[in-house]
Amino acid sequence: MSDNISTNSLRQEDGATPHPMTTPKARSTKIISTLGPASHNRSKIYALLEAGVDVFRLNFSHGTHNDHRKTISLIREIEAEIGRPISLLADLQGPKLRIGKVRENVVLRTGTSFDLIPGEIVGTEKQVTLPHPEIYTSVKPGSRLLLDDGRLSLKVTGASSRQISTTVEVGGKLSSCKGVNVPDVPLSIGSITVKDKADLEFALAQDIKIIALSFVQTAVDIQVLRTLAKVPISVISKLEKPSALDHLETIVAASDAVMVARGDLGVELSPDQVPIAQRKIIATCRKIGKPVIVATQMLESMISAPTPTRAEASDVANSVYARVDAVMLSAETATGRYPTEAVTVMNNIIRCVEDDIHNHGVPSKSLMFDTQENHVPFAIGRAVKELSESLNCATIATFTTSGLTATSMSRGRPDAKILGLTANHDTARFLNLVWGVHPLTTPDASNFSDMVTIVKDTLLERDLVQLGEMVIVTAGVPFGTPGGTNLIRVETL
Ligand code: PGA
Ligand code: MN
Repeated sequence: MSDNISTNSLRQEDGATPHPMTTPKARSTKIISTLGPASHNRSKIYALLEAGVDVFRLNFSHGTHNDHRKTISLIREIEAEIGRPISLLADLQGPKLRIGKVRENVVLRTGTSFDLIPGEIVGTEKQVTLPHPEIYTSVKPGSRLLLDDGRLSLKVTGASSRQISTTVEVGGKLSSCKGVNVPDVPLSIGSITVKDKADLEFALAQDIKIIALSFVQTAVDIQVLRTLAKVPISVISKLEKPSALDHLETIVAASDAVMVARGDLGVELSPDQVPIAQRKIIATCRKIGKPVIVATQMLESMISAPTPTRAEASDVANSVYARVDAVMLSAETATGRYPTEAVTVMNNIIRCVEDDIHNHGVPSKSLMFDTQENHVPFAIGRAVKELSESLNCATIATFTTSGLTATSMSRGRPDAKILGLTANHDTARFLNLVWGVHPLTTPDASNFSDMVTIVKDTLLERDLVQLGEMVIVTAGVPFGTPGGTNLIRVETL
């Protein structure tokens, strides 16, 4: 956070003097919170918003359409009450394999035999349903099946189309619908399941246009999703398969944002490989200019405790130092005992680190600028950052249709706050997850004087700037062309 900055002795990136902020800069790194039984009612959602949530995630791996419908209408009511857009993200399960129902208190014992069968039964210590025919023909004696995020491990002893026989290698408690990972064999499963199609249709009917897709394997998966949607959507690719890392650049380029989905990634890869994958994914997203989200187990212990471990605090802080766009809470806010506290803790960590970055800077490497690149919006983003620094200008107002311009302004992580002015509600909602961008819905500008009037009216009316303050305005001419940013104007209001 960059408020109360008055001493000129404070240093920032490249040793430049900090900006004399006339209005406080808000937190730049965004917070995504997953909704669930722990956060389903009005007062809890209000409390989460108050604590700092920017985007709510609906996880379609859990809950029925009816459950989600109730939550969505509650969010829309609250949105109308508070008068600003609340962003919702629909997270599609993707080809995540799951076992069927299991009886209460089932514990698998190490060394015993255990079968998986296609038919619907209620699972016991001896057998469970696995309703995915592809696996029966893919696994071989010796393959491993990992259950419940890798907590339990089974070794295949025999497989036919009607049964997989295994020996329990690592036992433990087993409950209904737990995930199954098969790290040793490639599975020829489509990236978008029948359930995903139904969930996508439901989300679109509820006017949710930010769609996360699990277990993305190649850029083709993202194209398939866009084609299925038929309307423009923002696709967040969840990287949770080692094989996706082999296609990282093309996946990032085809996505609107990317999630480092450390949960499944850490089952498919060994956990010691996850930090390396995380760094690689973040670097690729920053280089290509796509928003990146770090997810899963960020404040895991806060599912049952009111304070985080020191390691968790460091994990959140390191993501902020790596200048990611957003950090995410999963079970912490969906099913945990301390959902609001988790958001408050995350918010506080982010503010402390952003304050430190403002005062002491970060290695310029994390800015990820390639001065050679030949891309007009990125070049304008670079120029705007420089201008804002040399003019001590605290506000960048950017007209954005698709969101690309605002994302390009954010890419260099300028100290000035970025106001994303857009006539498109879907763009405004998407920009809630982009680093440092504060979306505002405004009318479209149709000429230069219009542009200045809209900036002036919108910013003054909301107390975002004061009369006489300088603002850097960017836009595309002709006005209203997506991705067409080609103009910078310095305006004193
Ligand atoms: P999930 O995805 O929470 O939907 O499984 C995130 C992850 O795997 O990390
Ligand atoms: Mn996952």
